[in-house]
Amino acid sequence: MADIVLDKVSKSFPDGTVAVREVDLEIADGEFVILVGPSGCGKSTTLNMIAGLEDISSGELRIAGERVNDKAPRDRDIAMVFQSYALYPNMTVRENMAFPLRLAKLDKATIDQKVDEAAKVLELTALLDRKPANLSGGQRQRVAMGRAIVRSPKAFLMDEPLSNLDAKLRVQMRTVVSRLQKQLGTTTVYVTHDQTEAMTLGDRVVIMRGGAVQQVGPPQELYDHPANLFVAGFIGSPSMNFLRATVAEGKLRTALGDLPLGDRVRRELESENAPRELILGIRPEHFEDAELVDEAARGRGYEFELPVDIVESMGSDKYVYFTVEGERASSAELEELAADTGVDFGGDAANLVTRLSAESPVTEGEHRRVWFNLDKIHLFDPADGRNLT
Ligand code: ATP
Repeated sequence: MADIVLDKVSKSFPDGTVAVREVDLEIADGEFVILVGPSGCGKSTTLNMIAGLEDISSGELRIAGERVNDKAPRDRDIAMVFQSYALYPNMTVRENMAFPLRLAKLDKATIDQKVDEAAKVLELTALLDRKPANLSGGQRQRVAMGRAIVRSPKAFLMDEPLSNLDAKLRVQMRTVVSRLQKQLGTTTVYVTHDQTEAMTLGDRVVIMRGGAVQQVGPPQELYDHPANLFVAGFIGSPSMNFLRATVAEGKLRTALGDLPLGDRVRRELESENAPRELILGIRPEHFEDAELVDEAARGRGYEFELPVDIVESMGSDKYVYFTVEGERASSAELEELAADTGVDFGGDAANLVTRLSAESPVTEGEHRRVWFNLDKIHLFDPADGRNLT
């Protein structure tokens, strides 16, 4: 058993920076967990504390049930894979992979056997006699992973291992990492700032911001039920649209029109402290060209008409941008969110991003009727960003 438990783990640096705040996390034996969030959110520091490369300021870290706060990195029996491959240039692939086993003073026959096994899993057998300089980026990263797996450690910790690779190779290597983790069944904690990697790789995703955990859950759950504005804006590409909304006369007044309030939302708003000013969130993929919506679905949605700004054909679908005048959400929370995520949530006028079917005959400059699914909308409290739906 090699579960990893963080119990109110915090990290303050001597200059007063609080990089990680009271993080609680239970990672099960064999689980693949992704730490994701914008630059500076504390994900690398969290990983480094698990590795023992950074001291823990307060809280407790347990690996396989044992408190390891004060244990040296080499005694924790975990292997780290970094963004920079950190291979020895003068050693062959075989020697690089054998290095940790030689340090552990294993006999030559055992070392050869373990390296051969790892090379097979990572499809490196034909490259064992090459030097790192004669390998591609993806191959080098596979060697770095090979060096981590030969030791059969209790856990793997990976810090942005794919971010030095070009986009195509990154996609290929994602499947390598995913397959490897399943095959070995070793507890893995993986840090990335890339939400696509987070959504495709892990069993569970931990979303961090400002040193604190925002939400933990399987990728689909984070997508379907984001806990707050931050998670909603961070997960999904293109990002969720946010619009200001006011509850008036049992309807939701927005720049797209007055929306009927579904039962679920109405119940939530009837609770005592429910705000009257809200932020409406709609994902681009939950819109459709009104012409293409079948009758059965039509009743579950809402239609509006807006001028078409830009049409981007993606082959499988179309990204269509509409101009919405005024009424964009611009709470302090959204401004901060924009700074964190790089997503422009708009000022007085801004684009509404929609993803419509490729068959939509939409053209730039026209007014187009668009439908969206009311069951899929989210409503956020602008005061604290909490998702009320
Ligand atoms: P990135 O994706 O940019 O690596 P991150 O989420 O991994 O970001 P960390 O590297 O964990 O973030 O840093 C978290 C915070 O701690 C940042 O504000 C960073 O500036 C700060 N920090 C990191 N190391 C130190 C240090 N040695 N002294 C002071 N502050 C530090």
